[in-house]
Amino acid sequence: TSLVALSLSAVTEVWADVMRATGAAERVFELVDREPAIPAGGERLASVKGHVEFRAVRFSYPTRPDVPVLQGLDLELRPGEVVAVVGPSGAGKSTLASLLSRFYDPQGGAVALDGHPLTTLEPEWLRRNIGMVAQEPQLFSCSIADNIRYAKPDATDAQVEEAARAANAHDFIQRFPEAYGTQVGERGVQLSGGQKQRVAIARAVLKDPRLLILDEATSALDAESEHLVKDALERLMKGRTTLIIAHRLSTVANVDRVLVLEGGRIVQSGTHASLMSQEGLYRRLVERQFVAA
Ligand code: ATP
Repeated sequence: TSLVALSLSAVTEVWADVMRATGAAERVFELVDREPAIPAGGERLASVKGHVEFRAVRFSYPTRPDVPVLQGLDLELRPGEVVAVVGPSGAGKSTLASLLSRFYDPQGGAVALDGHPLTTLEPEWLRRNIGMVAQEPQLFSCSIADNIRYAKPDATDAQVEEAARAANAHDFIQRFPEAYGTQVGERGVQLSGGQKQRVAIARAVLKDPRLLILDEATSALDAESEHLVKDALERLMKGRTTLIIAHRLSTVANVDRVLVLEGGRIVQSGTHASLMSQEGLYRRLVERQFVAA
């Protein structure tokens, strides 16, 4: 089936599954063991400024109610601010992204967009306002053009190409004999990690959301791809509230603010420079994880 033929809600469902399935292999079982869905319906805001607030958020995954993941977490993202979250593995960084996209609701406290608790907002509408660039973006088995178009099925070819150019993807796409018509996925060409990321960035450009979530790749891209991805991301983030799940020193050094997550709470917050000037988890993480890696 053509991707554009899928209804938006079906795409959202697939995306929810992809979100839940990424990460640890055991999480894939959730595709079989489905959790109760977030109820549909709710308010749509006429416009989005992009102010995000987590207030005293307590959260455990429904499949593991005895394991507290977030324990009274507070965080604020001001409109247009680029904030990176760092922390040890399992600290809950990806969980923040899942709660912001409302794939789950917290058991305590609230997550709010422009002052409206997410539980009062329509989930589909919310997700249309959030762009996501995953570590390993999932491409569908269809053409590159339809992969870019999936969040905006009525986009013209010219709009798709414009988005691809902004994402530094146009040149590599043009080099395929069938260009934008090139089939990707299982029965098509295999794209490199950096190329997949640029397709995902093109999707986000076309979607033009107020909020962005970037899950930075942990595995290294080749130098050329790395540069093109970084350049495209910088353009994409401009003017959008951005939450980056960061793994690289070069990223955290350039953001407005870094949040350090540990034990289900934000334990440090500040610029890279200010956090480096004090004793604490951040400096230890940078010294061990980033520099040693
Ligand atoms: P990493 O850097 O390793 O990706 P993280 O900081 O993003 O880690 P999360 O993926 O948010 O951490 O996980 C936080 C905790 O919640 C971990 O203990 C993890 O095992 C658990 N967890 C994550 N996803 C699920 C899930 N879908 N079901 C149950 N437990 C989960």
